[in-house]
Amino acid sequence: MKSNTLAIHEGTLKDRVTGGVNTPLYTSSACNYMDRGEAVYPRYFNAPNQDAVARKLAALEHAEAGLVFSSGMGAMSTSILAYAGSGDHVVMLDALYGGTHHFATEWFSHFGIDCTFTLTSAEDVIRKVTPKTKVIVIESPTNPLLAVVDIEKIAQFAKEKKITTIIDNTFASPVNQTPLDLGIDIVVHSGTKYLGGHSDLCCGMVACSKEKMARILSLAKVLGPSLDPRLCHLLERSMKTLFLRVKAQTRNAMEVASFLETRPAVEKVYYPGLEAFEGHEIAKRQMTGFGAMLSFEIRGHDPDRFIESLCLIRPAVSLGGVESTICPPGRTSHAKMSAEERKRVGVTDGLLRLSVGLEDAEDLKQDLDAALHKISKDI
Ligand SMILES: *Cc1c(COP(=O)(O)O)cnc(C)c1O
Repeated sequence: MKSNTLAIHEGTLKDRVTGGVNTPLYTSSACNYMDRGEAVYPRYFNAPNQDAVARKLAALEHAEAGLVFSSGMGAMSTSILAYAGSGDHVVMLDALYGGTHHFATEWFSHFGIDCTFTLTSAEDVIRKVTPKTKVIVIESPTNPLLAVVDIEKIAQFAKEKKITTIIDNTFASPVNQTPLDLGIDIVVHSGTKYLGGHSDLCCGMVACSKEKMARILSLAKVLGPSLDPRLCHLLERSMKTLFLRVKAQTRNAMEVASFLETRPAVEKVYYPGLEAFEGHEIAKRQMTGFGAMLSFEIRGHDPDRFIESLCLIRPAVSLGGVESTICPPGRTSHAKMSAEERKRVGVTDGLLRLSVGLEDAEDLKQDLDAALHKISKDI
């Protein structure tokens, strides 16, 4: 069956009491242990509502196994620590999610893990690998500059060297990219974004082979970042509309990006769907859609004035909701970086990151156009 069908039906549990079409909500944290190998217990990641969403994600990512976590960082940190330990070396993209970057710079040494950061290019990732490298962590497209790396190239190289590859697939979502098909070992999501999709829950997910999942699950059970069954229930409802939402948001993003490209006050638009964009060719090969995140720079204007001039698009961190949101990464997600480092990775003060929602594209374009006119008149 196709993924949009599986998003609705896979994993959903039969309701034997009423015959209802939704997975019943199982809230018990004390369950019978008789006639069972392991009792059901939410911190063991084996509660029925956890299992339902985990199966859905596994189906969408073309994986044998899935696991749901209480946050994206819970999913990412557990996955890395399951495969890298004392004396090991990790290669990580420099431009990936701030929390993952921070985990490496602040905490890896505590675990005896050595880390090398790389540019957003497969060649540089491969160059930085040493005989001690156990894990490669990548993200594509990246936050906030939407840079794209050749996933298959990295995955194939790592397979030959028996290095475990982890990708953060949050920005693309399984609707637009399924990295396991390109040879990646472990896919991680911040489910807080597109999987949840309504800006009202925090969760994370992992999808991989059963073999790779065994260590992640074993570590997860003792670290304990499990998601409450009540939130799994809410997440399951969201995941049923994932394809409908993300496909429409992706269409909107293409329209908005093309529109911004034509505006004189806009210096540059970062969106993998634009032909002029650097990562476009690789994106076309490895993505089925270009996603609903984009960034742009406005020429010589105060980004705060621009954001204040918007009526419909809301200023907010986080992303992936049905409502369009905007933020200046230099002052939000990348605020911890020094000004110099921000400049080096290309996060300028005038950079704005837009999460394109489900509103009508005409309304979004009008809102952006009106704000651009307004700030142009100010000077
Ligand atoms: C938000 C985000 C995360 C972290 O997820 P949380 O659910 O906030 O822990 C990781 N990666 C990317 C790309 C994100 O956008």
